Parts: sequence; structure tokens; C-alpha cells
Amino acid sequence: MSAVPLRNNKPAASSLRSITVLGATGSIGDSTMDLLRASPERYQVEALTANGNVEGVVKLAKEFNARFVAVADESKLGELRAALAGTGIASGAGDSAIVEAAQRPADWLMAAVSGAAGLKPALAAVDRGATVALANKECLVCAGDFFMDRAAKAGACILPADSEHNALFQALASGSREELTRVIITASGGPFRTWAAADIEQATLAQALKHPNWSMGQKITIDSASMMNKGLEVIEASYLFALAPDEIDVLVHPQSIVHGMVEFRDYSVMAQLGSPDMRTPIAHCLGWPDRIPGRAAPLDLAKIGALTFEAPDYARFPGLKLAYDALRTGSGATTVYNAANEIAVAAFIAQKIRFGAIARLVEATMNEWVRAGNLAPLSSADDAIAVDHKARKMAATLLPQIAAKAS
Ligand code: NAD
Ligand code: MG
Repeated sequence: MSAVPLRNNKPAASSLRSITVLGATGSIGDSTMDLLRASPERYQVEALTANGNVEGVVKLAKEFNARFVAVADESKLGELRAALAGTGIASGAGDSAIVEAAQRPADWLMAAVSGAAGLKPALAAVDRGATVALANKECLVCAGDFFMDRAAKAGACILPADSEHNALFQALASGSREELTRVIITASGGPFRTWAAADIEQATLAQALKHPNWSMGQKITIDSASMMNKGLEVIEASYLFALAPDEIDVLVHPQSIVHGMVEFRDYSVMAQLGSPDMRTPIAHCLGWPDRIPGRAAPLDLAKIGALTFEAPDYARFPGLKLAYDALRTGSGATTVYNAANEIAVAAFIAQKIRFGAIARLVEATMNEWVRAGNLAPLSSADDAIAVDHKARKMAATLLPQIAAKAS
């Protein structure tokens, strides 16, 4: 049985839901807290986590009267304890404290850590059979070989929080798996959608951070500019819904109103639309299997006027094609794709490589990984983390020669 639930698998609705938010201080965390704030009588916050932002997470913990707070940065334990003194809120620091937060008995957990660092805590929630709203797509990209199986075995319920996947989740309710012919996820095209390849090559950090429609964390904003984010999402869709690469299409849609579509064999296409605001898919996950009041602006199509669509340009955005390659290769290749991209994005932010070199570093790392005979199926978090670490090292080793090479 799939861990992504069908609408008719309704759990019993309880009046007070306990909630944990991993990555509470980030962009998705902020949208989640905004929804909780709108109906405080419905939710009891169990645990909140952050990387190192003690002030931010403590402020939220006090506001929501959380039971436990964890920060990943171990050196901040003293600061955290001092800030929570007298509140009765328990706390911890380090990666194990983030896992502990995920293990605590919340009914519903938002997995919104950024990057592969979110895998272990997300698995900790999965293993206790929790309902997990999954924003942290890197979990599936790194551990796709086993993440969903493990969730199904543990009886966990995975609710797709990423907007495109949430759209697919909603549209999939219109037919059965056998009736589905393909899914389509949309991409805004990012700030460089109309740019020439030579200009994309030289794009600056400030230019990459100017997303036309969505307000998001830094890493995913850069991934949107390179369309690596869409690549990660193709992989995410494949693992979430058990789809072959050929069953997943990407369509550039600059207005970001249609988030995802499902085509059935009678060629009916079911789409989900909404303002580009993550509070809508998060509200769907938070209310599921019911619907709760949204917090985004209602959609005003008359005001928007026109919705347009274009085919993606794989030549100017090679990172997108590499995702399909990684998915077809399997055996850890998607983990390598993600790890190399995380190294490349960090190097771009540190101004060590040009924007165009992000995809080149990912490609070089994937090629070297295969050439060195490293492909092997992954069956545990330790496997996935070992591949992630090794691929990061390989990417870091290849970085200077990629940085030195002209496009
Ligand atoms: P962000 O950078 O704004 O926030 C990340 C959060 O994770 C912060 O709370 C940070 O403190 C925490 N964190 C970072 N590194 C950590 C570590 N090593 N250990 C523990 N905690 C750590 O990121 P975001 O934009 O909110 O994205 C979070 C996840 O959601 C990403 O996987 C992203 O791809 C996905 N996502 C984001 C959006 C969006 O609109 N922002 C949309 C879809 C999916
Ligand atoms: Mg998305």
C-alpha cells in the first residue's frame, strides 16, 4: 500500500492536534506557523527545531507554548537553555536533538529542514508511523530507494507539501493509478527564463535570488533559477507516486498559478490552481483529510488575465535533464545529483564558481561517480548518508577544475 493516502483513508478527526515543525524558523516553517497562529485552539505544539537561530525558535516556542525545542548547532545549547530559562520548555542541541524532536509523539509533523540534513529526522518521524507533511524534497531525492517503502511499512502517512506535488496529490484523487497516463509539474522558469545562455552563465547571486513569483529560502531560490529545483521535483514526484521518468513532464508556466496536472487515459487533465503562496498546500496538508480555511490571497483569474505555458529548454537549463538521467540511472545517482548540487550552490553563494558551473559540477560528479563504479542500491539512511557524504567530497574535489574551466 502506498504511504501517500487516498482520500477515503480518513483518520478519525480529533479536536486538538499535536504538531511538530522541523525547520520552524525557515520559509516553510514561517508559513506553517502562520497557519497554526490562525487557529491556536486547534493545535498543541509539541516540538520546534532550527539550525542555529536560537532567538527565532525561542520566540516561536514561547508564543506557541511548545513542549520541546532543538537546535542543530551544538555550540548553541547554553544560549538556548538561557533563553528558555523559567519557561518549563525542554530543549536539546545537536543532530540527535533534532531526531528526538521528530520522535516525540506529535500527530502531525512538518518536515521543512533544508537539504539532506533533514533525512534522519524525517525518517525518525516516519518510523513512528506519524503523519508527515513533506516539504523537504531532498529526503526523497536522497533516499528514494527506500523512503516510501519504509513509510508504508511503518504505517506513516506522507502528505506532499511541495506545491507541485500537493497539486498532483489533489488531482490524483480523480482517477486510479491504472487510469493515469502522465503527470505534469509546472515551473515558473525562474528569473532567467528568457535569458540567453551566455548571460545565465555569468548571472550574479543577487540576480539568482530575485524569484519572480515565490518567496522562499536561499537554497531553493537558487535551485529555481537553475531549474535544479524542478529536477529535484521530478525525482521527488517519481518516488512519491511511484511514477516512471517518462510519466513525468515539466511545463514552464511563468504565472505559477497552475501547480500540477494529472492526465488520465481518456485525456482528461485535472489541475490544481492557486495563488503562488505555500500556505495553500501547507493548509491542505494541515487540514487533511478535511479542508481548513486558507491564508493565501484567493485566486483572481480575471485580474491575472492570461495563463501561459512553454516547453522547458534543456540546453539553457541542463540541470533539469540531469535529473532525468539520475532517475533513470538509479542506485544512488539521485543522491549524488542532490549532494553535488548542494556543494555547487554553496560554492556559487561563496562566489567560487559562476552560475553556469552549478550544472557542470553536478554533471561532472555524476559522471565520475559512475566511472568509479560507485553505483549501488540504497537500503538505509546510513547508506544514503554515506553516498551523500562521499558525493559531496567528490564534488568538492572536482570543484577547482570546474571553477577554472570556461563554459
Ligand atoms: P529555509 O532555508 O528558509 O529554512 C530551512 C530551515 O531548516 C530553517 O529553520 C533552518 O534553521 C533549518 N535547518 C537548516 N539546516 C539545518 C540543519 N543542518 N539541521 C537542522 N535544521 C536545519 O528553507 P525553506 O525554503 O523553508 O525550505 C525548506 C525545505 O522545503 C527545503 O527542502 C525546500 O526545498 C522545501 N520547499 C520549500 C519551499 C518554499 O517555498 N520555501 C517550497 C517547496 C519546498
Ligand atoms: Mg515546488
